[in-house]
Amino acid sequence: MQLIDIGVNLTNPSFADKHQAVLDRAYAAGVCQLILTGTSVEGSEQALELCQQLDPDGQRLFATAGLHPHAASDWNADSSRRLRALFSEPRIRAVGECGLDFNRDFSPRPQQEKVLEEHLALAAELQLPVFLHERDANQRLLEILRDFRDRLPAAVVHCFTADQRALFSYLDLDLHIGITGWICDERRGTHLHPLVRNIPRGRLMLESDAPYLLPRSLRPKPKNGRNEPAYLPEVLREVALHREETPEDLASHSTACSRAFFHLPEIA
Ligand SMILES: [Zn+2]
Repeated sequence: MQLIDIGVNLTNPSFADKHQAVLDRAYAAGVCQLILTGTSVEGSEQALELCQQLDPDGQRLFATAGLHPHAASDWNADSSRRLRALFSEPRIRAVGECGLDFNRDFSPRPQQEKVLEEHLALAAELQLPVFLHERDANQRLLEILRDFRDRLPAAVVHCFTADQRALFSYLDLDLHIGITGWICDERRGTHLHPLVRNIPRGRLMLESDAPYLLPRSLRPKPKNGRNEPAYLPEVLREVALHREETPEDLASHSTACSRAFFHLPEIA
């Protein structure tokens, strides 16, 4: 069984000096390819470096490049130039993480919207897929996406946690959906149980969002409380249960979907 983790924050300081061990555990758990999430210009550059260092053959590790909406205030003229340089690198497979987060509002909303539009314009120009983040901003994200959608090759709403109306609005725009261990959270994730079966095959991808979002259903619980890509099979198990699919079947179609979305090589 092969799994692909489409969102791991491997540049997070909690993984410092542990990268190879984290990857070895992921590979042993069947997570054969990973997309490192870039959430700032510097972080995206670091993600690219990690890909090159830890996977010199270019078969297993790839990255996105972009500014998380929390970091939208950091956008300046230099950001666009440095992101363009990153997008010329073959390891960088998507524009993002970019989007809107009206839950925490770490950057002012008009600035978040402006920076999202900068990302979408780059994705349209360079014909790259988009890795989107949205919290409590479904309507504005839809309004902005509608202006760009016809020019974008593909886009995934990563770590989808919203309601049925939001899910259907994204599927109507022909977007992909990323599901994390949020669905394993008995306190705030159970609304996703009846929803995941509405995501068609070919649009559903799995992600750890590690080191965040440790699946709360995981047993035994890791002592350090830190999520890792090696725990992605727990997300697979929970999503398969609620889709009434076997884990093998879900692994097969979600992996094929991720591989097509990010144009990843086949692995023996
Ligand atoms: Zn996110």
